[in-house]
Amino acid sequence: MGQPREGGGILNGMDRRDFLAVTAAAPGLTARLGVELERTGIVSSHEHLLWENERIAEKADFFTLASHYLANDLVSAGAPATPKSWAEFGPWWPAVRLTGYGQALRIAMRELYGEEPSSAAAVARINDKLERANRPGLYERVLKEKARIRYSVLDDYWHSEPMRPDERFFVLARHLDAFCTARQAANIRKLEESTGVSITSVGGLKKAMEKSLEQSLAQGMVTLKSTLAYARSLRYEVVPEREAEADFQELMKAPQRQPPQRLSDHMFHHSLALAQERGLPYQIHTGYLAGNGGNLENTRPMLLGNLFGRYPKVSFDLFHLGWPWMNETTALAKLHRNVTADFCWMWVLSPAGARQTLDEMLEAVPANKIVGFGGDYRYVELSYAHAKMARAGIAQVLSGKVAAGWCTEGEAVEIGKMLLAENAARLFPQKKA
Ligand SMILES: [Zn+2]
Repeated sequence: MGQPREGGGILNGMDRRDFLAVTAAAPGLTARLGVELERTGIVSSHEHLLWENERIAEKADFFTLASHYLANDLVSAGAPATPKSWAEFGPWWPAVRLTGYGQALRIAMRELYGEEPSSAAAVARINDKLERANRPGLYERVLKEKARIRYSVLDDYWHSEPMRPDERFFVLARHLDAFCTARQAANIRKLEESTGVSITSVGGLKKAMEKSLEQSLAQGMVTLKSTLAYARSLRYEVVPEREAEADFQELMKAPQRQPPQRLSDHMFHHSLALAQERGLPYQIHTGYLAGNGGNLENTRPMLLGNLFGRYPKVSFDLFHLGWPWMNETTALAKLHRNVTADFCWMWVLSPAGARQTLDEMLEAVPANKIVGFGGDYRYVELSYAHAKMARAGIAQVLSGKVAAGWCTEGEAVEIGKMLLAENAARLFPQKKA
């Protein structure tokens, strides 16, 4: 490690034994870097955290927290459904406690509620503590004091209208995806209602999209976000308006099985043109899909290749490193001035994959293009645990770089701060109201 590697695929070229040998050889260094990164206040590029009042009203217990994202690994392991009791959870816990999702839940329970979730009695005690924790002040304590997260970019997709979030904790990301997924007249009517714009043509649909953007900006939106990879391929062809219009008139006559492709392509390009006009960054989901059973082929980062040159003023922030296609994201971030690689979700999705990719990326991609953390959780305890895993992973990789003579310890600390705070703060600045 630390020397240029020859031959092989990007991941295959990684010699894991070298990587582990170097990092294991520098435990004091890793610990020192870990302490420095613990002191660094994080700017989280991406969260789905409920507003604190919503969280308190939900009365979240242990199994609520386990539902995000660990339930997906439980289903993958064979559990019949999302567990609601220890009897349903316990038998499957040994299979999933070593995954990133499992580790995050363990760290959260151990460090915030003093228990490993290892028995019915332990989980009952955790639930007592959680009940007492579900009150105002939870976010200040967990996000600010424990996790040392300065602020987070909040994707509150469950709010149908844009609403200004609590500025102590959040800045806002919003979607225009609903304008790219219409497949029947009822969808169009909903967009008319939310924007107050009459839509009888593609021109009207674009005006409504512009209105929706204005509504989000008025609530303090700092970035657009798209999760269209859950619904369609990330390849967006350039389609003339008259072809999109034909699709539009078709869906107004009769519901279509899928969002018509030409209309969807045309509208996504329009959202990019709006981002370009406004100088807004665009966070784009690439790679692995939350849940179970999604179609991953649609999600490869390379499918976006025709967009970066066409919209040079849009900063494309590629989420989740496009896992498992991290090498595509690495190459795209190196190649294009306006592409950044975002580690959000990655330190729990595949902690080893995150470390290996960062190890490679630091030697290939300018460090100001790497956004090192986004918790991507609904519950603050899990964002805390994820932040802890990210800081540890980054410290481990950076200590390898120092041990290999690639940089000094001081330079490693500087890079750690860029990854955890400075790059995200520059891309998604916290604006005062
Ligand atoms: Zn997310």
